[in-house]
Amino acid sequence: MTKKVVVESFELDHEAVVAPYIRKAGDREIPGGGRVCKYDLRFTQPNTEPHMPIETAHSIEHILAFTLREFSDDIIGVSPMGCLTGMYVITTGVIDTPEKMKDIVIPGLGRLLEFDAVPGAESAKSCGTYLLHDLEGAKQRARAFLAKESELLDVYGHGLAE
Ligand SMILES: [Zn+2]
Repeated sequence: MTKKVVVESFELDHEAVVAPYIRKAGDREIPGGGRVCKYDLRFTQPNTEPHMPIETAHSIEHILAFTLREFSDDIIGVSPMGCLTGMYVITTGVIDTPEKMKDIVIPGLGRLLEFDAVPGAESAKSCGTYLLHDLEGAKQRARAFLAKESELLDVYGHGLAE
């Protein structure tokens, strides 16, 4: 195989970023029409802070999959990163800037704090490993993320231009 493959996240310098942050990680025209965007919501500092427990990441995935859709009809998918330091959110091209993503993520995580149970984790029917959840862990990570609200778009910690 000689095809040149570029995986955006492999090109990202994970030592240069400062978590938590919201980063646009992809923007693509779809052949035939339309556009998709991808966002990197990073909850913990790669390789230096402990990654999230898998139960926590799983619960954040479930709840954000629900709450982001309360605030936008342009969410295509929410999925945890395998490294357990954050989430990917795929959207339509309507959400084309990190600022617009932030305007959905902030209330979405705010709503997460109101939940008494993880949606879609009620039974084996609605989730592939329905006992693998930690609602309190998810709330703790959401609070830490929201506490840095003013710095979330400053991905590299250089300060935000006015
Ligand atoms: Zn699940």
